Amino acid sequence: MNIRNLFASLCIAGLAACAGCSERSSVYEYNFLALGTLVKVSIYTDDEASATAAVDLLEQDLAFLDANFYPDRGLLGQVNTQLRDNGIAVMDPAVAPLIERGAELERISRGLFNPALGELVALWGFLQDERPAGLPPPLADEISAVLRQRPAMARLTIAGSELKSGSRLILDFGGFAKGYALEQGVARLRGSGVENAIINAGGDISIMGQPGDRAWRIGIRSPGGPGVLGGIEMRSGETIVTSGDYERFFEYDGEFFHHILDPRDGYPAAHTRSVTVIHNDAVLADAAATALFVAGPSGLIGTATDMGVRYFMLVDREQHIHLSREMSERFVPAGHDHELHIIELP
Ligand code: AMP
Ligand code: MG
Repeated sequence: MNIRNLFASLCIAGLAACAGCSERSSVYEYNFLALGTLVKVSIYTDDEASATAAVDLLEQDLAFLDANFYPDRGLLGQVNTQLRDNGIAVMDPAVAPLIERGAELERISRGLFNPALGELVALWGFLQDERPAGLPPPLADEISAVLRQRPAMARLTIAGSELKSGSRLILDFGGFAKGYALEQGVARLRGSGVENAIINAGGDISIMGQPGDRAWRIGIRSPGGPGVLGGIEMRSGETIVTSGDYERFFEYDGEFFHHILDPRDGYPAAHTRSVTVIHNDAVLADAAATALFVAGPSGLIGTATDMGVRYFMLVDREQHIHLSREMSERFVPAGHDHELHIIELP
């Protein structure tokens, strides 16, 4: 796991604060590592035994995702190997829903979110757990050779359990894996009878029911350094996801390169430091945070509208904050004088 990720996660996780938590039920906290990050589950209940049993199952679910949904591991690894060798793969039933979701998210983001970019991500050195120190960025020719293959979910066709690819590609679900894990986690807890809980996967957070008596405010980390930009109040059923350039990056010859790639030119998206999205659909929130990051300030309205996102906030390279009117109404700035640009969505 990436240790920097863990620190970033701890930072955000530590900022979630409940003003006046419930006197009626107790809160039980569980921490474990999954998906390369710290997962914290807080359950508000009087039934500790059921809470613990529910979290055990949730932990197993996430261990299954860990073992099977990295591009080079388990079930997804097998699909990638078969596609590479034969252009055709036989999928386990657990893989198909992720492929369908990925294709839909690529479609509604008009290709800015592209979970078939694994070869490009690997070329930049971000597919490995640890990027080898001192590895230079790829050459322009190497990047264009990958893009010439037109890797995209739209090139895949599904017939029953068979997956065919019309181009060379590697599936990489890293852009929505945490959202998927949160969605699965919420379903697992609900199925186990848990009503009020918070699941925090490395700073990406789902709120179930009414955990405590008051609203939860989540701190949004400043991408430019330590501290927070402000807090955002969360509501029942929502998920908040942040994509930041600080999560994975390297420096080479004094230049900074991060892990969120613009599928149009193959380079790290140039105009954004971080994006935060709130949505009731955790998978959509995760994909949209990545897509809006790529879209940058000038593409925000178009991509947010295409993806059905009303609550978003983008910090650009000048540390200016661009946020939808709806998000601004829930955002309490921490007092720094960041320039705020409020966006009216159609
Ligand atoms: P996130 O932190 O959710 O923004 O996801 C970033 C991860 O998604 C990267 O580490 C890559 O594995 C993958 N990725 C990078 N660029 C894209 C993109 N344009 N669309 C989809 N996934 C991407
Ligand atoms: Mg994402």
